Amino acid sequence: MKHQFNILLAEDNPVSSKLTENILKKAGHEVTTATNGRQALELFKEKFFPIVLTDWMMPEMDGLDLCKAIRTSGSEGYVFIILLTARDSKDDIVAGLKAGADDYLSKPISQPELIARLNSGIRILELERSLKKANEEIRVLSITDSLTACFNRGYMNEHLLKEIMRSKRYNHPLSVVLCDIDHFKQVNDTYGHQIGDRVLIAFAQILRKTIREKIDWTVRYGGEEFLVVLPETEFNRGCLMVERLRQAVSQMEIEEVNKTIKITASFGATGFDSDTDDEKISPDSIIKRADEHLYKAKREGRNRVCGGPL
Ligand SMILES: [Mg+2]
Repeated sequence: MKHQFNILLAEDNPVSSKLTENILKKAGHEVTTATNGRQALELFKEKFFPIVLTDWMMPEMDGLDLCKAIRTSGSEGYVFIILLTARDSKDDIVAGLKAGADDYLSKPISQPELIARLNSGIRILELERSLKKANEEIRVLSITDSLTACFNRGYMNEHLLKEIMRSKRYNHPLSVVLCDIDHFKQVNDTYGHQIGDRVLIAFAQILRKTIREKIDWTVRYGGEEFLVVLPETEFNRGCLMVERLRQAVSQMEIEEVNKTIKITASFGATGFDSDTDDEKISPDSIIKRADEHLYKAKREGRNRVCGGPL
């Protein structure tokens, strides 16, 4: 199926402009018109057009300068530019392509030729779209834990420091929680690793459901150990949230073939605010402190939250 494209048409001759516009519209595209290069460039700066058709000879700014300006504008995606021209000597064509045009059309414009050249541009744009989509998918995969869909350690290594720096710069609080499923080895030993994996998935889901979307984030820190980062969150408020999380986990029932699995988890929480000594604050010191509290929670009997500010 062909996509509909937003096309910018720059042409100073009103008859020629209307004719071209009609051909493009009949082919199903949205068309915005400008009567010279300067106007076209202004429209382009306001809104991205993946396809630009421009006349060569126009007042104020000609087609060649428009091509050059679009190529150096740092636009969000590739722009396929077709130059419309009555000048079709070899030298002119070369000058047009050098200025950044992808293709050219001799005037008067023939409808089948315009459509054919437009379609070859559309093939390039669609290729670009699918490459972008594939790149985005690769990027997501590279920062995601494939089993639980939480972020992975690589993402954490990059982003925890950034999150800390941002909080410090604006004097905002930040809380961090390390959590670990209690007796997870028993789950694996009793039910097998497949069910163990489903328990991990269910645990990660409940973490994500409890935290604030697009603000808080979760990392699969180790086998059954997860890290939750709560930006803009005072330590005390973070602890309340973790207590809710602990309860939600302990009430969760994971249904498997003729059995219901229940789990609990232990939590170690810490955090800093604008009163915290700057030298104490680093990704390592925060994780270390959260880990100490997690072990305290384990020692004190599991299924509990232990914590203290950094
Ligand atoms: Mg003209």
